[in-house]
Amino acid sequence: MRGLMQERPLLISSFLSFAAIYHKDREIVTRTIEGPIHRYTYADCERRARKLANALKGLGLQFGDVVGTLAWNTYRHLEIWYGVSGQGMVCHTINPRLFPNQIAYIANHAEDKAIFVDLTFVPLVEKLLPHLGNVKHFVIMTDRAHMPATSIPDAICYEELVEGASDDFTWPEFDENTASSLCYTSGTTGNPKGVLYSHRSTALHSMVANGKDALGMGSTDAVLPVVPMFHANAWSIPYGAPMSGAKIVMPGAAMDGASIYELLETEGVTMTAAVPTVWLMLLQYLEKDGGRTLSTLKRVVIGGSAAPRSMIETFETRFGVSVCHAWGMTEMSPLGTLGSLKAGMEKLPLEERLDIQCKQGRAVFCVEMKITDDDGNELPRDGKAFGHLMVRGPWIAGAYLKGDGGNILDQDGFFDTGDVATLDPEGFMQITDRAKDVIKSGGEWISSIDLENAAVGHPDVAEAAVIGIFHPKWDERPLLIVVRKAGKEIGKEEMLTFLAGKIAKWWMPDDVVFVDELPHTATGKLLKTKLREDFKDYKLPTIVAAE
Ligand code: ADP
Repeated sequence: MRGLMQERPLLISSFLSFAAIYHKDREIVTRTIEGPIHRYTYADCERRARKLANALKGLGLQFGDVVGTLAWNTYRHLEIWYGVSGQGMVCHTINPRLFPNQIAYIANHAEDKAIFVDLTFVPLVEKLLPHLGNVKHFVIMTDRAHMPATSIPDAICYEELVEGASDDFTWPEFDENTASSLCYTSGTTGNPKGVLYSHRSTALHSMVANGKDALGMGSTDAVLPVVPMFHANAWSIPYGAPMSGAKIVMPGAAMDGASIYELLETEGVTMTAAVPTVWLMLLQYLEKDGGRTLSTLKRVVIGGSAAPRSMIETFETRFGVSVCHAWGMTEMSPLGTLGSLKAGMEKLPLEERLDIQCKQGRAVFCVEMKITDDDGNELPRDGKAFGHLMVRGPWIAGAYLKGDGGNILDQDGFFDTGDVATLDPEGFMQITDRAKDVIKSGGEWISSIDLENAAVGHPDVAEAAVIGIFHPKWDERPLLIVVRKAGKEIGKEEMLTFLAGKIAKWWMPDDVVFVDELPHTATGKLLKTKLREDFKDYKLPTIVAAE
């Protein structure tokens, strides 16, 4: 028997139109690309999104067309998200930190009909123009006064486009499984692949992400998504905030410690989210002058890469800010697990609590998870066995755009995340490594992430990476690559002595090298493929000694 409830579609436009009624005066604050702080309300945002929706139709774009963005987190980018998806077009957030040839590849692969560009990225688009022949319109996201002299043909001024359009627009109704937005994986190996979200997947994901044990956003919160809108939907904050009525604070292009600190304090931010590199910059900034406090911030969500233990501890013990460690991926919209403590855990001694918080967290409702061995057999949830992390759920990709990569699900519909992990009896998942980064030593696996985390616990270490180096006896042995903090002198022996006792003896790196900087991916993660390339001829002293 079919239920008798109203079968109303879940549509992205409803997030913003809801906010425009029930939280109409709540602010959206932006550090603009032009410089000044801009502020307006959800009601203003929704009205301008309607104007933009009309303007897009005026440009000849139609339902289902793909519209690209090369843009930071700003109110204009938010208007584009809603103006595009809200009327059934597909909003394609392009990561501007990708290599230029990858950007051209994905704009063509996605068949972008128009691209909205922040001032910062105008030179990039100018360079790519010969490869973007299929893009019909380029819109520069600024006002007339700031329009640059550009070789982009018929470049449109965003403010003129929006303000010149009527706000007489009704958000249309259509099937909730219609595509809403598109985000490419960063493609550290091979070409980037497109993950095509739907209105339904986005709505379900955002509702669960707003939950108390997840991002926990409510109408009294002010949220600062430092994580860019082009990085896995800014972890759904620009969708969940209007649903909950939270104030949004957009950082624009400035993600340095001083700029983020200023916004946190002047805008009364209570929750914020970003990758560890951003928090490293903020904490270093706070360290410079012992007197600074975080007076309103309550919760920081850290994900994208493993949050180091020392970072979680510093936020909590020095600044009274609770850390929620999160894990996910573009293919998962992106949230899979969040590390909110369960009942009773908050009373544990600090060290035991940190042991739990260093794990990547528990699956949120709707995300099914299991770990398997190489033959697909499920492994126990005992916190010890580690295997391939497999996931299934209504906001997890079932296929890549245009069938790239072929069938990506196993016979039960699970997607292989490419991560290796443990699951403990309380449900907490811990990433051991990316399957391709794990170091295989004498038939056993060494977690490069654990070693890196232990190394950055040293006060003189700014950043660390561990890769496997060929070893004739053990197959691979770990090499630790360290960036010292400015003015610090730490050497190999001191580093190894520091690690002793913190890691299994046989995990001890065979060598330590010091470099000025480490390569990163377009989403701020260590670029291990580049490191492996750079160190492919490296000979470990343990081999040299044996020769
Ligand atoms: P990109 O590679 O473009 O940054 P994703 O954001 O989708 O794309 O990357 C997802 C991957 O990032 C995960 O599969 C996992 O390896 C890693 N990751 C995400 N969050 C964490 C975390 N909290 N700890 C460790 N690794 C993480």
